[in-house]
Amino acid sequence: VSSAAERFDFFYFVQQWPGSFCDTWRGCCFPDTGKPAADFGIHGLWPNYAHCHRHGDDDVFSIIGRLLRGRCWPQYCGGDDDGDEGGKLSPWAIRDLVASLQRNWPTLSCKSGDSFRFWSYEWKKHGTCSNLEPHDYFARALALKAAHNLTEILSAAGIVPSATATYSLDSVSDAIAKGIGFKANIECNRDSDGESQLYQVYQCVDKEGKNLMDCPLHMRSKCSDQSQGGRGGWIRSTGVCV
Ligand code: 5GP
Ligand code: 5GP
Repeated sequence: VSSAAERFDFFYFVQQWPGSFCDTWRGCCFPDTGKPAADFGIHGLWPNYAHCHRHGDDDVFSIIGRLLRGRCWPQYCGGDDDGDEGGKLSPWAIRDLVASLQRNWPTLSCKSGDSFRFWSYEWKKHGTCSNLEPHDYFARALALKAAHNLTEILSAAGIVPSATATYSLDSVSDAIAKGIGFKANIECNRDSDGESQLYQVYQCVDKEGKNLMDCPLHMRSKCSDQSQGGRGGWIRSTGVCV
């Protein structure tokens, strides 16, 4: 962790829908702790600058932001070499959180099946720039997930995983905004048949990693747009393939 306080504006708290991670051409693997619940899982808690975000976003603020400041977020504040001790996560530091992390932040990648490696990667890339100690960083992410159950919020609005039903992007955004009280960003990906589906939800959080806020910028959702001239694309929620 760098000694100087890292300057950033807010966190993205990113959760992934396991079915949508798994049903792409790449597939997925269950972690060695077993099959994850049919529930959103944490992907990460990412420090971000407010003036620009998401490489690939083409709104004018993001383009200007990237030109002026390069990257839209700080990363690898303890170094990114494999040998670098700066970004190394100690299992001891988060020992009391491991059971909860395994339930709420499981890895679905086939690289290792070891969720600790996923947490270590996220800590090294994003956590080291958070101005938080490892324990606070992971505890706050868990608290954020526990505060609002996205799966329940969506299902209360009639938005449930389905291989056939489609939902407008606006209806999903509105359900989340109403359910948590703040506007979030939504990202789609494509399943192996090329169908657009809900993949990740980006909630915005203050610099302490404690309080939710409206997302300062609207992110490109990558959800396919079937609506003629409407601002919302249409997305499938996705099969519960885990
Ligand atoms: P992708 O290109 O797949 O959307 O993102 C690849 C990786 O870049 C993410 O896993 C994350 O580590 C980082 N990343 C992508 N978008 C953002 C963003 O808006 N903010 C931050 N802090 N990191 C991001
Ligand atoms: P990011 O997208 O945060 O830069 O990178 C995520 C990294 O963590 C990738 O290298 C990916 O292979 C690894 N990873 C391990 N488990 C997962 C998972 O369940 N979801 C995602 N998105 N990435 C995972």
